[in-house]
Amino acid sequence: MDEFKEPTRGEQLRKALAYEKKNGYDRLLPGELEAMEDYCTGYKQFLDAGKTERECVDRTIALAEAAGFRPYTRGMELKPGDKVYRANRGKAIMLAVMGRKGLDQGVNIGAAHIDSPRLDLKQNPLYEADEMAFLKTHYYGGLRKYQWVTIPLELHGVVALKSGQVVRVSVGNGEGDPLFTIDDLLPHLGAEQSKKPLGEAIPAENLNILVGSRPLADDEGSDRVKIAVLELLNRKYGIVEEDFISAELSAVPAFSACDIGFDRSLIGAYGHDDRVCAYAALAALLQLGMPERTAVCMLADKEEIGSEGVSGMKSAAFDTFMADLCAGQGVLPRACYEQSFCLSADVTAAYDPNFAEVYEKRNSAFINYGMGLCKYTGARGKSGASDASAELVAYVRRVLDNANVVWQMAELGKVDAGGGGTVAVYMAERDIDTLDAGVPVLSMHAPFETVSKLDCYMTFKGMKAVFEAV
Ligand SMILES: [Zn+2]
Repeated sequence: MDEFKEPTRGEQLRKALAYEKKNGYDRLLPGELEAMEDYCTGYKQFLDAGKTERECVDRTIALAEAAGFRPYTRGMELKPGDKVYRANRGKAIMLAVMGRKGLDQGVNIGAAHIDSPRLDLKQNPLYEADEMAFLKTHYYGGLRKYQWVTIPLELHGVVALKSGQVVRVSVGNGEGDPLFTIDDLLPHLGAEQSKKPLGEAIPAENLNILVGSRPLADDEGSDRVKIAVLELLNRKYGIVEEDFISAELSAVPAFSACDIGFDRSLIGAYGHDDRVCAYAALAALLQLGMPERTAVCMLADKEEIGSEGVSGMKSAAFDTFMADLCAGQGVLPRACYEQSFCLSADVTAAYDPNFAEVYEKRNSAFINYGMGLCKYTGARGKSGASDASAELVAYVRRVLDNANVVWQMAELGKVDAGGGGTVAVYMAERDIDTLDAGVPVLSMHAPFETVSKLDCYMTFKGMKAVFEAV
């Protein structure tokens, strides 16, 4: 038996005063490993079902309706515990669970985005070059172009016909579907290309997707491969070349979400940014019974290109939804906002020992250290950040600690190494107290990103704690 030793003065002081960070696996509660696995299984399914914002909205509606949510119509009478949603043009969605307290007491908001970096087709995309057919693309969001060549791609989206009919397109994720790809130079002929900086080696106008090579049979005309592809598209979707003009088609990586590592502790997938936080907010909301304060989940589009447009976080669609809810209780929306809290749930950079030089280790988010809280984002001296107040950060510490959430403080990387933003600033501009928080990601914005299961689960737990806060 060990002899009991009085802790030294130094040990006592260290324990009482110093901030000690601990790996999340050393802080899990009994039963949490199993709960984490269950949660991540649902998350992987959500990822595979939603590779565009439209598909994420569809999947969200299906999950919400199964959990008792109804579409909200203006003027609908609501009582505490009622669950409603409103989709914005099929690309963003707002959901609410009405609380016991009135809307004049404010709401708890979880805001995430469901758009991810990808390659959008141009409006006149199809062409033939030397008897191969290609689609021209314009990349969406901040991506590293060299990562998008020589990987399998799927094609998702819609073609809106002049008649008003909307044709859905999804090629690559069905049984036996073909895939697409963008070719790159062979190393044997890549001497000049290899000398170029990474950002210049693959010009954007080279991101052309290979979609066919078989010429139209028994024909002497021009562009026989392109015409043969158009014939296939016409047969399957009833579209003609001109219809691309009013289409939104995106090439996305053809990877299914999967476990990474011998220990299966990580998840690799396309689109963690920011479906990992969107799913956390959604799953937490769907589990709510009757919260004290009304809980609102906002899943926005267009974050990756600056939150612009009718379906982005700058859109008045959110304000209109909130105004409609407030009207039912005779509350001024602004009076509701000033009492509200928003967790802007978006991913942050995970410290990567392979690229240690861009991180400031003391203030970086680590894999398996839980949900990463960011007081500010932005670049070059916090420019473009909402910079949450000290009081607000203290409030969130309290809420998360009371719910046994494993969390950490996070900053994207070294000061002046780069930067980034989220929807936080647009919530804060509405006079809503807002703090950034989310899952640390390795290889952010790559076709295949990696997160830790523990961090996913803790972000879900954190979102739930925020929604349940009184
Ligand atoms: Zn992003």
